[in-house]
Amino acid sequence: MELYGKKHALARLADFRRSGRFPHALLFCGAEGIGKHIIADYAAMMYMCAGDGERPCGHCDGCRRTEQHIHPDVVYPLSSMEKNTYHVEELREFITSCYTKPNDGDIRVCVFEDLDEMSPICQNALLKFIEEPLEFNRYIFIAKSRTPVLQTVLSRVTAVEVDGADEAEFTRAMTDNGIDRVRAAELFERFGGNIGAALGFENGGGEIQYLSAAIKAADAVAAKKELDCLNAFLSLKTREEIFDALGILSDIFGNTATVKAGNPSYGSYRAQTERLAGAYSLKAVSRLYNEAVRLYGMSFTNPNVKLFAAECCSALFNAAENP
Ligand SMILES: [Zn+2]
Repeated sequence: MELYGKKHALARLADFRRSGRFPHALLFCGAEGIGKHIIADYAAMMYMCAGDGERPCGHCDGCRRTEQHIHPDVVYPLSSMEKNTYHVEELREFITSCYTKPNDGDIRVCVFEDLDEMSPICQNALLKFIEEPLEFNRYIFIAKSRTPVLQTVLSRVTAVEVDGADEAEFTRAMTDNGIDRVRAAELFERFGGNIGAALGFENGGGEIQYLSAAIKAADAVAAKKELDCLNAFLSLKTREEIFDALGILSDIFGNTATVKAGNPSYGSYRAQTERLAGAYSLKAVSRLYNEAVRLYGMSFTNPNVKLFAAECCSALFNAAENP
């Protein structure tokens, strides 16, 4: 298994292992392409490894089957749902099925992908399940953004921000994928350690529009350039894209508030977080966060995409500048 970077996320997992108190519910958060799924696989291997030494060993039967997604006790409920969307009835059936003992061993790992796309009704259905865990169940959640996740769910999981690769690790990932060093340097400049976004772009998938718009908007707010922020929002063509971009912006402002409150930043958008922390007070950053969350909640009520894009931009600049 090749993890490329993710140093802070791995360090946290190693701390849990050393402390002897490995959480029963983990949440991996980070941008699209940052590598949440691979680190979720790695954490699932930590639960399932039967090796004697440091876990995961990477080569026992439990590790290998978990890595290949063929372990009968590492289950991915989303993939079994109709249209790859969580439905509350199917989710309740899934939860009921988890009250029986695992097939093979002592532990079952439930991997809930796209937690940020799960409706509040479904998230509520999960609450009791994760709050009063059976001794054999473990949970791994994956989300691009924390904003849509209910506070009641967040308070029951241990959240781990998945950090991007540094330039050396990023370059290694690119050259392992047949991309030369010169191009790798250009891609690092553009994607800042997000290996999946860079490979997706390079392989013709195009840029993830809402991700690059959110990052440009955050940089524009930090640089106090309202026109750049407006252009970033206007590059989005659908309400879904604005919704996703606002989710990411709220996370960036949330991370920045954490930094301003004196904690180190290990989030996925470190460059933007640092720029914003340098430009604004904690109060201003908190206002930006609240405003982004408010706009996020309004994403689907405004029928005109262009007008709403313009409103987002002016609302954020008002929040930044006016107490
Ligand atoms: Zn193992």
